[in-house]
Amino acid sequence: MPLIEVKDLKKTYRIGDVDVPALRGVSFSVEPGEFVAIMGPSGSGKSTLMNIIGCLDRPTSGKYMLDGHDASKLSDAQRAGVRNRKIGFVFQSFNLLPKMTALKNTMLPMMYSGERGNKKLALQALESVGLGKRTHHTPMQLSGGEQQRVAIARALVNDPPVMFGDEPTGNLDTTTGEEIMAIFQSLNNAGKTVIIVTHEPDIAQHCKRILRFRDGLLESDEAVKDQLVATPKRAT
Ligand code: ADP
Repeated sequence: MPLIEVKDLKKTYRIGDVDVPALRGVSFSVEPGEFVAIMGPSGSGKSTLMNIIGCLDRPTSGKYMLDGHDASKLSDAQRAGVRNRKIGFVFQSFNLLPKMTALKNTMLPMMYSGERGNKKLALQALESVGLGKRTHHTPMQLSGGEQQRVAIARALVNDPPVMFGDEPTGNLDTTTGEEIMAIFQSLNNAGKTVIIVTHEPDIAQHCKRILRFRDGLLESDEAVKDQLVATPKRAT
């Protein structure tokens, strides 16, 4: 059973009297354990697609199955629940709460799940991204790469079947971006499904499959030949 399956997905935004088609009929599926890059020029529909498959928004029409459930028909509250259990999000701008320590930031998704206050799981997640010694630092006391690693720990803490990265290396220099890709690759090697949006061909080359979008349509869907293996992260 695919983890993600979209069929003839369409999304049209209405601005005043004008319909803006952002997705014009997109179909593909992602099996458990895949590592997918989503690419395409600005305006091609990548964010719209990520918002829908990330359960942040609803399609205008078409079908979206997530882990065997029809996510296109869920209420807002149901979508929020599915999002919290099934998906770990990592954003370009990290989105950490500035006054909270790495540990507290990592524990945030547990506030909404049954694991409220399970410090041990949060510490394990931080250790798995090499931040076991930075748990009491606030974001200001961490480098960009470390902040993104906290964001990855936060995304992992509820052990969701799929991780979504929206330009996760977009604010980082090449070396640090490589470290972040090393973490995604090790998660993927351990069986986690990973889907990232990226503009950078070098970053996409670290994935196993590239979906290219143009004008709201899936233009190509190819396996990556000669996948780049990221060098392991620096010791912390
Ligand atoms: P990308 O992420 O590839 O840059 P988007 O999904 O953001 O593409 O945009 C696809 C199209 O939908 C663009 O024409 C964009 O202007 C339009 N669009 C995206 N979001 C909205 C919105 N909230 N309201 C109206 N139009 C939107």
